[in-house]
Amino acid sequence: MSLRFDGKVAVVTGAGAGLGRAYALLLASRGAKVIVNDLGVDRHGKGVSSSAADKVVQEIRQAGGTAVADYNSVVEGEKIIKTALDNFGRIDILINNAGVLRDKSFPRISDQDWDVIHNVHLKGSFKTTQAAFPIFKKQGYGRIIMTSSNSGVYGNFGQANYSAAKLGLVGLANTIAIEGNRNNVYCNVIVPTAASRLTQDILPPDLFEELKPELIAPVVVYLCHESCQENGVIIESAAGWAGKYHIVRSNGAVLRKNIKDPVSLEDVRDNWNKVTDMKNSQHLESIQEASASLITLLDELRTET
Ligand code: NAD
Repeated sequence: MSLRFDGKVAVVTGAGAGLGRAYALLLASRGAKVIVNDLGVDRHGKGVSSSAADKVVQEIRQAGGTAVADYNSVVEGEKIIKTALDNFGRIDILINNAGVLRDKSFPRISDQDWDVIHNVHLKGSFKTTQAAFPIFKKQGYGRIIMTSSNSGVYGNFGQANYSAAKLGLVGLANTIAIEGNRNNVYCNVIVPTAASRLTQDILPPDLFEELKPELIAPVVVYLCHESCQENGVIIESAAGWAGKYHIVRSNGAVLRKNIKDPVSLEDVRDNWNKVTDMKNSQHLESIQEASASLITLLDELRTET
C-alpha cells in the first residue's frame, strides 16, 4: 500500500526553495493540499518577493496537485495557519523549515545577527507551531517537524548564532512532543544536509551534486504520515541515508562516600576518568527517569552512613 495524504492539509514554511520545495512537491504528489509559505528573501533574510512561493505553487498545480501560496514571515506564524484554515478549513501537518544565515565568527556577531537568526528559526517555529497546536490537539491528529542542523549538534565555525537557535529547536520539539503525545500530536526533528543556496559555498562541488533535497523529503514526509508513530526523536538524513540521534550520558561517578560528605575539587579530579567514560553510556527516556536516578543515588548514599 502506498502512503497517501488525501484529505490532509500541510503547511511547509520556506517552501519556495531547497528542502521546503521538495517537501511541498512530495506531499502534494501524495494527495495533500499544501500551503507553500515563503517570504522570498535572500539567504541573509533580505529582500521580499512572492515569486518563490508562486513558482512552487505553479509546479504543484501543473502536476495536478492542490496548493496555495502564503507570503508571510514565520515570525507571524498565526497568519500562515490562518491561510490554511481560510483556504482548506483545516490543518494536519506543519513542517517548520524556513531559514536564513548570518554567518560570522563569534566575536563579530552583532545583536542584529543574533536576533534575525533567533527570530526566523526559533521564534518563527514557536509562533507557527503555537497557532496550529490547539487545532491539532482538538482533532486528535497533528504532525510537526522542526528543522535543526549539524551546526547545532556539533557546532560549526562562524555559526554560533545559528547553532544556538538550531539546538534550541531540539529543546522546543522535546517538550512539544511530550505535551502533544496524548492527543496523537507528534513533533520530531530533522537534521538535513542538502544542496541548496545555504550550502552552495560550504559544500565541495562534487558532494553538493549528490546531496539532493529530494533524497531527504521522503524521510520528512514519512514522519508526517498518520501511520508513523514516531514522536520526540531527532532524525538525521542526507544522500539517501537516515539515522536517529540519541543524547546519551555516561554512567558517571559518585564523588563522595556518604550523604554527609562534601565534594572536594580533588574528588572531582580523582574521578574524572569515570565521569567522562562513555563505555557504558545510556540514553534516558525522560526527565522522570533522570530524577529517579538521582533519588536512587541519594538513597544509596544514605545507606552508606
Ligand atoms: P533555502 O535558502 O534553499 O530555503 C529556505 C527558504 O526559507 C527560502 O526560500 C527563504 O525565502 C525562506 N525564508 C527565509 N526566511 C523566511 C521567513 N522569515 N518566513 C518565511 N520564509 C522564509 O535553504 P534550505 O537549505 O532548503 O534550508 C531549509 C532549512 O533547513 C533551514 O531551516 C536550514 O537552516 C535547514 N538546514 C539546511 C541544511 C542544508 O544542508 N541545506 C543543513 C542543516 C539545516
